[in-house]
Amino acid sequence: MIDILNVTKIFNGYVALNSVSLNVKEGELVALLGPSGSGKTTLLRIIAGLERADGGQIRFGGEDATGLSARDRQVGFVFQHYALFRHMTVFDNVAFGLRVRPRSTRPSVEETRIRVMELLDLVHIAHLGGRYPTQLSGGQRQRVALARALAIEPRVLLLDEPFGALDAQVRKDLRRWLRRLHDSLGLTGVFVTHDQEEALEVADRVVVMSQGTFEQVGTPAEIYDNPVSPFVYRFLGNVNSLSCRVRYGRAVGEGFDFPAPEFEGIRDAAGILFVRPHDLEITDPGQGNSVTATVGHQTILGPIARVELRGPRGEDLEVELTRARHAELGLEGGAKVGIVPRRARLFLDEALHGAERDMNGADIRAVS
Ligand code: ATP
Repeated sequence: MIDILNVTKIFNGYVALNSVSLNVKEGELVALLGPSGSGKTTLLRIIAGLERADGGQIRFGGEDATGLSARDRQVGFVFQHYALFRHMTVFDNVAFGLRVRPRSTRPSVEETRIRVMELLDLVHIAHLGGRYPTQLSGGQRQRVALARALAIEPRVLLLDEPFGALDAQVRKDLRRWLRRLHDSLGLTGVFVTHDQEEALEVADRVVVMSQGTFEQVGTPAEIYDNPVSPFVYRFLGNVNSLSCRVRYGRAVGEGFDFPAPEFEGIRDAAGILFVRPHDLEITDPGQGNSVTATVGHQTILGPIARVELRGPRGEDLEVELTRARHAELGLEGGAKVGIVPRRARLFLDEALHGAERDMNGADIRAVS
């Protein structure tokens, strides 16, 4: 549906996008996820036709759209800050896109009314048609912005931090609702976010961006389970890192010595083991292959318990356990325990600086 082919954008000598390529399939919802300044908005604006690329091509439905304006691309665009027309009611805001159509394709007054009411109904604000934007809550304004974008029946919906300015509960409601709306309308969509949870929960595929390049493209499960680089691991959050030495196919650290056959050729290099909190098990200290750590703060979060620990080199570590397992362990603050990774991923430390990418990412499993 949308082909992004080797798109490059340079602002005054600064490479904001460095030859990125992606195919967004019909009906797919893709998240562009990355830290501030990684190029997400620039790419979205280029897809929309609001910005011109310095190199590469955008294709819509197989056709070159590089020279097409935003309107001709038939994209619906929702910005971070709801740019509603302040002097117009909600109804008129949503009707706007239909009323400015050329006479030949413009719906009649009655058709417009029906269409707008359908849309307001769809976004659950049918009762607010007569209000002005200043009389709405943030979440309601965001819904109006979406209804307005949908009014022109876009081929593609582009959203830039659509829920950025809203509080946590409203964000959560709205992103579920967006997902459902997307599924029922079968729209093709691209949205920008720096919130990993939002990307993982809403999108069919996630593009993790860093410094104008794509670090990783994959389904939420692929991105979460198999990050390809330390950057992606860190950016997705919720990860423990343990430093070690990588020597002749083994990862050796304080209290552990794990096989790492993919790294057999490495004589001696600094490495980092990444482990998700739910992939760490707590045992008695000093048992076999385990890292000795000191129990810190413990939090109960509904069905899970989160235990903070201090590692042998003062690292902050976090373990997530079921409530049942947590109760069984009966951990006391300050106690020494052993922690054992059930599953970890090893990267060479140089990779953190962008080198040795090919050597990256070997899984280490079932260790003890
Ligand atoms: P954020 O999450 O903060 O919105 P982003 O990932 O969307 O960030 P972009 O807005 O795409 O990032 O910006 C990418 C880089 O390009 C940044 O370094 C930014 O300063 C730069 N940039 C963006 N627009 C312009 C412009 N019009 N002129 C010069 N530099 C720009």
